[in-house]
Amino acid sequence: MDALQNGWFSELNDLWPGQCMSLKVTKVLHEERSKYQDIKVLETNNHGRALVLDGVIQLTESDEFSYQEMLAHVPVNSHPNPENVLVIGGGDGGVVRELTKNPAVKKITQCEIDDRVIEISKEYLPTLSEGFQSPKLTLHLGDGFKFMMEHEGEFDVIITDSSDPVGPAMSLFEKSYYERMKKALKPDGIICSQGECLWLHLNLIKEMQDFCKELFPVVDYCYCSVPTYPSGQIGFILCSLNPETNFNEPIRIFSDKELEDLSFKYL
Ligand code: SAM
Repeated sequence: MDALQNGWFSELNDLWPGQCMSLKVTKVLHEERSKYQDIKVLETNNHGRALVLDGVIQLTESDEFSYQEMLAHVPVNSHPNPENVLVIGGGDGGVVRELTKNPAVKKITQCEIDDRVIEISKEYLPTLSEGFQSPKLTLHLGDGFKFMMEHEGEFDVIITDSSDPVGPAMSLFEKSYYERMKKALKPDGIICSQGECLWLHLNLIKEMQDFCKELFPVVDYCYCSVPTYPSGQIGFILCSLNPETNFNEPIRIFSDKELEDLSFKYL
Protein backbone atom coordinates (compact mmCIF):
# COMPACT_ATOMS: atom_id res chain seq x y z
CA MET A 1 0.00 0.00 0.00
CA ASP A 2 1.35 3.46 -0.89
CA ALA A 3 1.44 6.13 1.82
CA LEU A 4 -0.52 8.50 -0.48
CA GLN A 5 -3.50 6.85 -2.16
CA ASN A 6 -6.93 8.03 -3.31
CA GLY A 7 -6.54 11.39 -1.55
CA TRP A 8 -5.49 9.85 1.78
CA PHE A 9 -2.10 9.79 3.51
CA SER A 10 -1.50 6.66 5.62
CA GLU A 11 1.30 6.56 8.20
CA LEU A 12 2.56 3.03 7.55
CA ASN A 13 5.57 2.10 9.68
CA ASP A 14 7.07 -0.94 11.41
CA LEU A 15 7.25 1.09 14.66
CA TRP A 16 3.45 0.59 14.93
CA PRO A 17 2.81 -2.63 13.02
CA GLY A 18 -0.72 -3.46 11.95
CA GLN A 19 -2.17 -0.02 12.56
CA CYS A 20 -1.89 3.46 11.08
CA MET A 21 -3.32 6.95 11.19
CA SER A 22 -4.79 8.13 7.89
CA LEU A 23 -5.45 11.76 7.03
CA LYS A 24 -7.55 13.00 4.14
CA VAL A 25 -5.29 15.18 2.00
CA THR A 26 -6.58 18.04 -0.11
CA LYS A 27 -3.17 19.03 -1.53
CA VAL A 28 0.49 18.00 -1.41
CA LEU A 29 2.04 21.41 -0.73
CA HIS A 30 5.66 20.32 -0.81
CA GLU A 31 7.68 17.15 -1.34
CA GLU A 32 11.45 16.68 -1.47
CA ARG A 33 14.29 14.38 -0.44
CA SER A 34 16.81 16.28 1.71
CA LYS A 35 20.28 14.99 2.55
CA TYR A 36 18.77 13.24 5.59
CA GLN A 37 15.13 12.39 4.94
CA ASP A 38 12.03 12.55 2.79
CA ILE A 39 10.04 15.71 3.66
CA LYS A 40 6.37 16.32 2.86
CA VAL A 41 3.97 19.10 3.78
CA LEU A 42 0.34 18.11 3.26
CA GLU A 43 -2.82 20.20 3.39
CA THR A 44 -5.30 18.00 5.20
CA ASN A 45 -9.05 18.10 5.30
CA ASN A 46 -9.56 18.78 9.00
CA HIS A 47 -6.14 18.93 10.74
CA GLY A 48 -4.61 21.91 8.91
CA ARG A 49 -1.14 21.35 7.47
CA ALA A 50 0.88 18.26 8.36
CA LEU A 51 4.68 17.90 8.35
CA VAL A 52 5.74 14.35 7.45
CA LEU A 53 9.35 13.10 7.65
CA ASP A 54 10.22 9.70 6.16
CA GLY A 55 6.51 8.86 6.09
CA VAL A 56 5.96 9.70 9.79
CA ILE A 57 3.66 12.54 10.94
CA GLN A 58 5.75 15.02 12.95
CA LEU A 59 2.90 17.41 13.59
CA THR A 60 -0.37 18.76 12.35
CA GLU A 61 -1.45 22.36 12.89
CA SER A 62 -4.58 21.19 14.71
CA ASP A 63 -2.92 19.42 17.65
CA GLU A 64 0.80 20.30 17.72
CA PHE A 65 0.32 22.61 20.72
CA SER A 66 -0.04 19.83 23.30
CA TYR A 67 3.31 18.24 22.42
CA GLN A 68 5.23 21.53 22.15
CA GLU A 69 3.79 23.04 25.35
CA MET A 70 4.50 19.94 27.43
CA LEU A 71 7.98 19.27 26.02
CA ALA A 72 9.06 22.87 26.64
CA HIS A 73 7.37 24.01 29.85
CA VAL A 74 7.35 20.88 32.05
CA PRO A 75 11.19 20.77 32.32
CA VAL A 76 11.67 24.56 32.31
CA ASN A 77 9.08 25.14 35.05
CA SER A 78 10.65 22.38 37.15
CA HIS A 79 14.06 24.17 37.22
CA PRO A 80 14.67 27.01 39.73
CA ASN A 81 16.64 29.14 37.25
CA PRO A 82 16.27 27.82 33.68
CA GLU A 83 18.09 30.69 31.95
CA ASN A 84 20.08 28.74 29.39
CA VAL A 85 18.18 26.11 27.38
CA LEU A 86 19.44 23.80 24.62
CA VAL A 87 17.08 22.24 22.05
CA ILE A 88 18.23 19.31 19.91
CA GLY A 89 16.14 18.71 16.77
CA GLY A 90 12.85 20.63 16.69
CA GLY A 91 13.34 21.86 13.12
CA ASP A 92 9.69 22.92 12.83
CA GLY A 93 10.32 25.67 15.43
CA GLY A 94 7.42 24.78 17.77
CA VAL A 95 9.48 24.11 20.90
CA VAL A 96 11.50 27.30 20.42
CA ARG A 97 8.20 29.21 19.98
CA GLU A 98 7.10 27.86 23.36
CA LEU A 99 10.44 28.64 25.06
CA THR A 100 10.31 32.24 23.85
CA LYS A 101 6.97 32.59 25.73
CA ASN A 102 8.51 31.49 29.04
CA PRO A 103 9.81 34.57 30.88
CA ALA A 104 12.34 32.49 32.88
CA VAL A 105 14.27 31.50 29.72
CA LYS A 106 16.93 34.03 28.73
CA LYS A 107 18.99 32.17 26.14
CA ILE A 108 18.07 29.39 23.69
CA THR A 109 20.54 27.33 21.67
CA GLN A 110 19.21 24.93 19.04
CA CYS A 111 20.99 22.23 17.05
CA GLU A 112 19.00 20.74 14.15
CA ILE A 113 20.52 18.34 11.65
CA ASP A 114 18.43 19.25 8.60
CA ASP A 115 18.33 22.86 7.41
CA ARG A 116 15.61 21.90 4.89
CA VAL A 117 13.13 21.12 7.70
CA ILE A 118 13.75 24.63 9.06
CA GLU A 119 13.39 26.33 5.67
CA ILE A 120 10.25 24.37 4.74
CA SER A 121 8.72 25.14 8.12
CA LYS A 122 9.44 28.85 7.61
CA GLU A 123 7.65 28.68 4.27
CA TYR A 124 4.66 26.46 5.11
CA LEU A 125 4.24 26.45 8.90
CA PRO A 126 4.53 30.09 10.03
CA THR A 127 2.66 29.57 13.30
CA LEU A 128 5.40 27.14 14.39
CA SER A 129 8.47 28.70 12.79
CA GLU A 130 7.80 32.15 14.29
CA GLY A 131 10.16 31.12 17.11
CA PHE A 132 13.14 31.29 14.73
CA GLN A 133 12.87 35.10 14.78
CA SER A 134 13.58 35.31 18.52
CA PRO A 135 16.69 37.32 19.49
CA LYS A 136 17.17 34.80 22.34
CA LEU A 137 17.93 32.03 19.81
CA THR A 138 21.31 30.87 18.46
CA LEU A 139 20.80 28.24 15.76
CA HIS A 140 23.39 25.59 14.82
CA LEU A 141 23.09 23.15 11.93
CA GLY A 142 24.50 19.71 12.67
CA ASP A 143 24.08 16.38 14.42
CA GLY A 144 22.79 16.79 17.98
CA PHE A 145 24.88 13.85 19.19
CA LYS A 146 28.11 15.43 17.94
CA PHE A 147 27.03 18.85 19.28
CA MET A 148 26.64 17.31 22.73
CA MET A 149 30.22 15.95 22.63
CA GLU A 150 31.51 19.51 22.25
CA HIS A 151 29.75 21.09 25.27
CA GLU A 152 30.32 20.62 28.97
CA GLY A 153 28.61 22.15 32.04
CA GLU A 154 26.75 24.77 29.98
CA PHE A 155 23.00 24.27 30.02
CA ASP A 156 20.28 24.46 32.68
CA VAL A 157 17.81 22.47 30.58
CA ILE A 158 18.31 20.24 27.51
CA ILE A 159 15.23 19.40 25.42
CA THR A 160 15.47 16.73 22.73
CA ASP A 161 12.68 17.19 20.18
CA SER A 162 13.68 14.38 17.87
CA SER A 163 11.95 12.20 15.34
CA ASP A 164 11.61 8.46 16.06
CA PRO A 165 14.63 6.19 16.69
CA VAL A 166 15.32 5.36 13.05
CA GLY A 167 17.48 7.28 10.55
CA PRO A 168 19.25 10.43 11.79
CA ALA A 169 17.58 10.36 15.23
CA MET A 170 18.65 6.82 16.21
CA SER A 171 21.66 7.96 18.28
CA LEU A 172 19.46 10.33 20.32
CA PHE A 173 17.81 7.34 22.06
CA GLU A 174 21.07 5.68 23.17
CA LYS A 175 22.66 5.57 26.62
CA SER A 176 25.82 7.29 25.33
CA TYR A 177 23.70 10.31 24.27
CA TYR A 178 22.24 10.56 27.79
CA GLU A 179 25.76 10.32 29.25
CA ARG A 180 26.81 13.21 27.02
CA MET A 181 23.71 15.25 27.95
CA LYS A 182 24.54 14.73 31.62
CA LYS A 183 28.02 16.21 31.01
CA ALA A 184 26.61 19.15 29.02
CA LEU A 185 24.31 20.15 31.93
CA LYS A 186 25.10 22.57 34.75
CA PRO A 187 25.10 20.94 38.24
CA ASP A 188 21.31 21.06 38.85
CA GLY A 189 20.36 20.57 35.21
CA ILE A 190 17.27 18.92 33.78
CA ILE A 191 16.66 17.03 30.55
CA CYS A 192 13.42 16.30 28.72
CA SER A 193 13.41 14.04 25.65
CA GLN A 194 10.82 12.77 23.21
CA GLY A 195 9.95 9.42 24.81
CA GLU A 196 7.70 7.61 22.32
CA CYS A 197 4.36 5.99 23.20
CA LEU A 198 3.49 3.84 26.23
CA TRP A 199 0.99 1.78 24.21
CA LEU A 200 3.52 0.89 21.52
CA HIS A 201 7.08 1.18 22.83
CA LEU A 202 7.03 -0.01 26.43
CA ASN A 203 10.22 -2.06 26.02
CA LEU A 204 12.18 0.89 24.63
CA ILE A 205 10.82 3.21 27.35
CA LYS A 206 11.75 0.72 30.09
CA GLU A 207 15.24 0.27 28.66
CA MET A 208 15.72 4.05 28.55
CA GLN A 209 14.37 4.55 32.06
CA ASP A 210 16.76 1.86 33.35
CA PHE A 211 19.88 3.51 31.93
CA CYS A 212 18.64 6.96 32.98
CA LYS A 213 18.34 5.71 36.58
CA GLU A 214 22.05 4.78 36.47
CA LEU A 215 22.90 8.37 35.47
CA PHE A 216 20.42 10.69 37.26
CA PRO A 217 19.04 10.78 40.84
CA VAL A 218 15.57 11.75 39.56
CA VAL A 219 13.96 10.04 36.55
CA ASP A 220 10.33 10.41 35.56
CA TYR A 221 7.98 10.06 32.58
CA CYS A 222 5.02 12.13 31.52
CA TYR A 223 2.74 11.94 28.51
CA CYS A 224 0.19 13.98 26.65
CA SER A 225 -2.56 13.41 24.18
CA VAL A 226 -1.90 14.11 20.49
CA PRO A 227 -4.75 12.73 18.34
CA THR A 228 -2.69 12.46 15.13
CA TYR A 229 0.26 10.59 16.73
CA PRO A 230 0.29 6.76 16.82
CA SER A 231 -2.21 5.57 19.45
CA GLY A 232 -3.01 9.23 20.14
CA GLN A 233 -0.33 9.68 22.74
CA ILE A 234 3.34 10.61 23.19
CA GLY A 235 5.57 10.68 26.25
CA PHE A 236 8.65 12.47 27.55
CA ILE A 237 11.61 11.17 29.52
CA LEU A 238 12.43 13.60 32.31
CA CYS A 239 15.67 13.48 34.34
CA SER A 240 17.22 15.85 36.86
CA LEU A 241 20.65 16.11 38.45
CA ASN A 242 19.03 17.83 41.43
CA PRO A 243 17.69 15.17 43.87
CA GLU A 244 15.10 17.71 45.12
CA THR A 245 13.34 17.98 41.73
CA ASN A 246 9.75 16.79 41.75
CA PHE A 247 8.31 16.86 38.23
CA ASN A 248 4.82 16.34 39.67
CA GLU A 249 5.08 19.68 41.46
CA PRO A 250 6.76 22.20 39.16
CA ILE A 251 8.45 25.17 40.85
CA ARG A 252 6.60 27.66 38.65
CA ILE A 253 2.97 27.34 37.64
CA PHE A 254 1.60 29.83 35.12
CA SER A 255 -1.10 32.13 36.48
CA ASP A 256 -4.51 32.23 34.76
CA LYS A 257 -3.51 35.59 33.26
CA GLU A 258 -0.23 34.15 31.85
CA LEU A 259 -2.09 31.13 30.46
CA GLU A 260 -4.39 33.49 28.59
CA ASP A 261 -1.88 36.20 27.60
CA LEU A 262 0.68 33.69 26.32
CA SER A 263 -1.97 31.74 24.34
CA PHE A 264 -1.48 28.37 25.99
CA LYS A 265 -3.98 25.78 24.86
CA TYR A 266 -3.00 22.53 26.60
CA LEU A 267 -1.40 23.51 29.94
N1 SAM B 1 7.38 16.23 17.38
C1 SAM B 1 8.01 15.37 16.48
C2 SAM B 1 7.78 13.92 16.71
O1 SAM B 1 8.09 13.43 17.79
O2 SAM B 1 7.28 13.28 15.82
C3 SAM B 1 9.44 15.71 16.28
C4 SAM B 1 9.48 17.00 15.54
S1 SAM B 1 10.93 17.64 14.96
C5 SAM B 1 10.42 17.98 13.29
C6 SAM B 1 12.14 16.35 14.79
C7 SAM B 1 13.44 16.91 14.23
O3 SAM B 1 14.55 16.16 14.69
C8 SAM B 1 13.53 16.89 12.70
O4 SAM B 1 13.55 18.21 12.21
C9 SAM B 1 14.85 16.15 12.41
O5 SAM B 1 15.54 16.66 11.30
C10 SAM B 1 15.57 16.35 13.74
N2 SAM B 1 16.66 15.40 13.98
C11 SAM B 1 16.65 14.06 13.75
N3 SAM B 1 17.84 13.53 14.10
C12 SAM B 1 18.62 14.55 14.56
C13 SAM B 1 19.95 14.62 15.04
N4 SAM B 1 20.72 13.53 15.14
N5 SAM B 1 20.42 15.83 15.44
C14 SAM B 1 19.65 16.95 15.36
N6 SAM B 1 18.38 16.93 14.88
C15 SAM B 1 17.87 15.75 14.49
